[in-house]
Amino acid sequence: MMHRQDAPDNHDAAEERTAAAVRDLAGTVGEGLLEIDTVLSEVTTFHIGGPAAGLAHVRTSDDARRFLEFAGEREIDVLGLGGGSNLLVDDNGFCGLILRMEMTDVVFGPGTVRAGAGLPFDELIALSLAAGRPGLEFASGIPGSLGGAVVGNAGCYGHEIGEFVLEATLLRPDGSVERVGPEDLGFRYRSSDLKGSDTLLLDVLIHAEAGNVTAAVAERHEHLTDRLRKHPVDEPCAGSYFQNLAPSSPGERRRAAGALLDELGVRGWREGDAAVYHKHANIIVNLGRATCLDVLTLAGRMKAAVVDKFGEELVEEVRHLPRHRTGRGFCG
Ligand SMILES: Cc1cc2nc3c(=O)[nH]c(=O)nc-3n(C[C@H](O)[C@H](O)[C@H](O)COP(=O)(O)OP(=O)(O)OC[C@H]3O[C@@H](n4cnc5c(N)ncnc54)[C@H](O)[C@@H]3O)c2cc1C
Repeated sequence: MMHRQDAPDNHDAAEERTAAAVRDLAGTVGEGLLEIDTVLSEVTTFHIGGPAAGLAHVRTSDDARRFLEFAGEREIDVLGLGGGSNLLVDDNGFCGLILRMEMTDVVFGPGTVRAGAGLPFDELIALSLAAGRPGLEFASGIPGSLGGAVVGNAGCYGHEIGEFVLEATLLRPDGSVERVGPEDLGFRYRSSDLKGSDTLLLDVLIHAEAGNVTAAVAERHEHLTDRLRKHPVDEPCAGSYFQNLAPSSPGERRRAAGALLDELGVRGWREGDAAVYHKHANIIVNLGRATCLDVLTLAGRMKAAVVDKFGEELVEEVRHLPRHRTGRGFCG
């Protein structure tokens, strides 16, 4: 079984079981493959979060299988981690094994590129343009890994990565490896069937026809410049905190959560060291020592204000990772 569903009074048992398992694992894996009690604020862009019982560096699909099988045998929780740019980790950290996906191979084929889930998404875009393959430039500057982008169907400027995915290699919890097409990945707005599932994404085959990249390179430059202007550069964050709202009627565009929040004047709202970014009402930044609780409290105030004024329920885009998992899936 992949995930414990311990009641709070069983958390002590989970802590002991997990710590013992991670110690045993450390005795069997090669040097540098496993870290104990790594503070997760160091591997997330929010720079928030306490220690994980273990953090394993996954550099091959064999590593992934081995760690996943071990976690299953010892009944400890796991979380697949990419760039940590969409996560809010609990102040107490994570009672489980973090599998940090670090496979970064890239192979261009006719009309395609296959890349490891751990490759930084923006690096794939830069490499594709350098290889004369336009298409992904709309996403220039999205932080994190290719895997995280596919799991969350990352997007902007009217496009999403899911439109370009031809195939994904998945590692199922039973240790089997499967290649599936996009129709089996359930892409939807900022999500896919992989999000919150027990499956690890190993690599992705992306549509990447050869073509003239002049316009694409210019578009990339424009988006990178725009992001530098609009997004926090010095203050840690995890991007847009809330999802945009469903369209009011079919065929219309989603309504920007930031626009509603702006009507409430939330820019500058603050809880401890968590604050709403002064240039963007839908981004929460860490001013230095923000805790997970600061962020959750601030986000809760923002949500409540939107319900009061507009009768709308905002849904979090950033995923909160508690210390103890209470449900199934890799996250939250
Ligand atoms: C400044 C800033 C700007 C941003 N702009 C955008 C934007 O324009 N559009 C957008 O969509 N997002 C944006 N984001 C959010 C974030 O960058 C994306 O969601 C990104 O794709 C997350 O990738 P990651 O590797 O960091 O995922 P992580 O944060 O590491 O993980 C996110 C989720 O995916 C799971 N996961 C990650 N890798 C794997 C894997 N290989 N197998 C299984 N599960 C996995 C994790 O368990 C977790 O549930 C922004 C963030 C920041 C900080």
